[in-house]
Amino acid sequence: MKKKLQQLATWLTIENQSFPETVVTGISIDTRTITEGDLFIPFRGEAVNGHRFVDQAFEKGAAASLWMKDEPNPPEHLPLIFVDDPEQALQKMAECYRNEHKATFIGITGSNGKTSSKDILAGTLSPYFKVQKTIGNFNNQLGLPITILQLDEDTEISVLEMGMSGFGEIEFLTKLARPHYVIITNIGEAHMQDLGSREGIANAKFEIVKGLNEEGLLFFDGDEPLLQSLVAKTPNLKTQSFGFTGKQDLVASNIVATAQGSSFHVEGVINGDFFISVLGEHQVKNTLNTMLVSKALGLTDEQIREALKQVVLTDMRMQLISVGELLFINDAYNAAPTSMHAAIHFIEQTTIRKEKWLVLGDMLELGNDEQSMHEEIFAHIDHHKISYVCLYGPRMKWLYEKLKAKFDANHLVYSEQDYNPIINKIKLNATSDSIILVKGSRGMQLEKIIQSNELA
Ligand code: ATP
Ligand code: MG
Repeated sequence: MKKKLQQLATWLTIENQSFPETVVTGISIDTRTITEGDLFIPFRGEAVNGHRFVDQAFEKGAAASLWMKDEPNPPEHLPLIFVDDPEQALQKMAECYRNEHKATFIGITGSNGKTSSKDILAGTLSPYFKVQKTIGNFNNQLGLPITILQLDEDTEISVLEMGMSGFGEIEFLTKLARPHYVIITNIGEAHMQDLGSREGIANAKFEIVKGLNEEGLLFFDGDEPLLQSLVAKTPNLKTQSFGFTGKQDLVASNIVATAQGSSFHVEGVINGDFFISVLGEHQVKNTLNTMLVSKALGLTDEQIREALKQVVLTDMRMQLISVGELLFINDAYNAAPTSMHAAIHFIEQTTIRKEKWLVLGDMLELGNDEQSMHEEIFAHIDHHKISYVCLYGPRMKWLYEKLKAKFDANHLVYSEQDYNPIINKIKLNATSDSIILVKGSRGMQLEKIIQSNELA
């Protein structure tokens, strides 16, 4: 973005205020990460009032700041735009900037795989277009407008992650972004707490089509019957499906994992053999939506094949990490049942190394069914394929109680809130033959096990 204050004020329908010729080149809501030329947006939260940081924002190079009208003592002689509600102002500016921007906008939602899909897609398109994507996990009612306002004028493709925890949130984001293409990666169990059922989750994700451009296309996980039925119920919606089964528009098969990544075969809209340096069948699924979008944008199969080879994922998503002779798969970014089952399935069938370990931490925010969802992991662990299981966190106690039937005490470790028993077990028994999957919800911070000095 590169806008004069007067332009921003016009977007915000502010009259009776005059502005210096100051140009704003970005947006920040946090003085720790602010950069020169940013417009600072202070929020008045319960614990902290962002207006207290406005002076600091200017010291660190902010070009201007919003200021809530009823907030006392605005600093004098600094360029301020007075607004009723900074959050609404942020969203309004993003909407106006979006409407004048020429980029192709792509929105991604789903229970799992949004960030992975975003990174694979942006990585694949970058050799051919100027692409900007959501940074990290900036996928909500603040992160999405900030991402839009950060777009350079000459960006050709904007890849936007859209997250939610309840009904109406995706509708809000998609109507703001008005994407040309949207992706629903899958339907899992995350946010069951707020949405009641998998049907509820599917309906909430499907809101993404409400902002879809008239000529737009939905790409969706065709292996998910709930999405198939929502698509069938929506007349005039153009779609392409992807998956591993049935008559999807793009179907992947023959997935082979190596220490470098996954090779696979596709049939349908695109045909042939492809490779991606990312692990896990579910990541191949996330690659399928990238392939369909890339094709829709006019790339040739060969261009897609070449670009996929050099894609790298954000940290902590099925990331292979060597520590001495030990080999970890760091998937500690997050966990919910679907992604847990997918990761366990991956390690069970991989031939990268023979001795398989699971280090699993609690899955958080699952609502009333959390006990059964932890217990159900039991059915996904094949004790012929898995040698050691280490469990961490109060909720993993439920799984621990069940696993005692499959594993003896020498092969099963439980620790409620101390990483050390697990680290010690790895130190004692893991070898150059072992591959260790580490996965749990963000709050469990299981990456600390891999980073432990004890193992280095
Ligand atoms: P968040 O809601 O936290 O933003 P996200 O949707 O962005 O999550 P990712 O960060 O890409 O998802 O991945 C989260 C976890 O889900 C990872 O452990 C990853 O391995 C797993 N995962 C990714 N894609 C899929 C998929 N299509 N199906 C099942 N699990 C997946
Ligand atoms: Mg994400």
